[in-house]
Amino acid sequence: MSTFKGKIDEFPGISIDDFEGNNLKSSIYFLSHVHTDHMRGLYQCEFLKRLANEKLTLYSHEVSTIFLRSRYPDYANCFQYLPINLPTTLKTADKFEFNVTLLPAGHCPGSVMFLFESDKHTVLYTGDFRLKLAEFKKFKGLYTPQGTLKRIQKVHLDTTFMFKRYEQFPSREESLGAICNLIEEWLEQDPKNIVNLDTRYRYGAEFILSKIYERFKMPVHVDQRSYDEFYKYLPNMDKCVTLSKNTRIHSYCNGYKSFCSSGETTIRKIVITAMFWKDWSKEKQINISTSNSNFCRACYSTHASLQEIRDILKFIKPEQVEANVVPEDDICDTNEMLDLIDECIEGNTPIKRSPMKSRLSEESHSKYYDCQKKTDKVDTKGNNNVNVEVSDDDDVYDEEFHKLRSVKDKNLIKNGGEKRCLDFDLSMFD
Ligand SMILES: [Zn+2]
Ligand SMILES: [Zn+2]
Repeated sequence: MSTFKGKIDEFPGISIDDFEGNNLKSSIYFLSHVHTDHMRGLYQCEFLKRLANEKLTLYSHEVSTIFLRSRYPDYANCFQYLPINLPTTLKTADKFEFNVTLLPAGHCPGSVMFLFESDKHTVLYTGDFRLKLAEFKKFKGLYTPQGTLKRIQKVHLDTTFMFKRYEQFPSREESLGAICNLIEEWLEQDPKNIVNLDTRYRYGAEFILSKIYERFKMPVHVDQRSYDEFYKYLPNMDKCVTLSKNTRIHSYCNGYKSFCSSGETTIRKIVITAMFWKDWSKEKQINISTSNSNFCRACYSTHASLQEIRDILKFIKPEQVEANVVPEDDICDTNEMLDLIDECIEGNTPIKRSPMKSRLSEESHSKYYDCQKKTDKVDTKGNNNVNVEVSDDDDVYDEEFHKLRSVKDKNLIKNGGEKRCLDFDLSMFD
């Protein structure tokens, strides 16, 4: 859950992923993706009216723009999209000029990172992301016209899984395979068996739904709202989802945790979760799914693992990193995260520490040291494993979306679009 408050010190007059409080004074807005923890205040009249009255713009990826325009047709002109990997020059009301480049974030449809550049500063805001270094390195927006890597001084980082216990996750393909195996096993056991795929969020499972169709040639039942708000704009999701209950796989189709079934059916619920898989590693050959007849779990992450984060930070070599996702109620977790950030940026040239610790309050400092002592005493094996048991609601991110590409008819987007108008590319993150 993002705890970023919308402002980047080096870029005054802009706000990202937060649209209330002090952010109402900004003159340019950015949205990394359409998850509710990144849209605080966006739905409030105060913000929307300000956009319209002051003729301000909220920039995002075209998929997010379409979503916003279809939800708020009266404010459609206030939502604009920017190209991927190409710098765009913008100027705030105070005449502060800067470039912004959108980079794919691999988290959900339309999710992007923002690379902000001024004459003095270059800052990367990652939003939520899941990318391997090899994918990240390919982004043209990271390089100067001469082909050298831009010097990024500061990163605002998705630290959702920046803990030792989430060192690794299975690849997206491995996770998709495990999910499909659980479905296949259940459907083959009895023709009356059906599957309820609990993705914990309305949007964001598009890779999974597409893979299921590819494997079983069977559409997944989704509800009318999901279809109207999102799937109807995705031509290549057409065959993967259905509004008919007459299918054997269901997902988010009848409210958050319920599903469609008759008395004769036997349901296997498959919970898609990443947080459950603490200390997973490929080397230890730990299963990436659990199966118990009616209740299963499968590991699938839309956020980068510690290893994936570390790889990217070591490639960028920023001087400063700020955490976008801080577990504010858990000082031990917070401090573990900050230590890991420090480890990642140490050894860079020039060597500078993360500013995060110095930003903790005096009280937090004393808690930090207390926590270290306690951890040392409790855990003689050196495992800093202080987290509590994870509940079933662990990685709920409301209203998730996925990466999309290429607009078939730009005019449809301008109109908010009754017809389907987007295509998205599943191979992008394979
Ligand atoms: Zn998200
Ligand atoms: Zn259903």
